[in-house]
Amino acid sequence: MADEFKKLKETGNNFLKIKCKSCGNEQIVYAKIASVVVCNICGATIAKPTGSTLATSGELVEKVKL
Ligand SMILES: [Zn+2]
Repeated sequence: MADEFKKLKETGNNFLKIKCKSCGNEQIVYAKIASVVVCNICGATIAKPTGSTLATSGELVEKVKL
């Protein structure tokens, strides 16, 4: 099974709320991650680093400013 990862546009030093495609969980992820991020609920890989920003297999809900 190949997960489809979509690279997001440059997001700067933001946090992103990403919705897991598998279970619907919404999780806050830092835009400039250094390693893959898995869903806290189902364990699916929801984001991976691509250099300048991240790619996600889920859905970007909103940008979060902390
Ligand atoms: Zn999940």
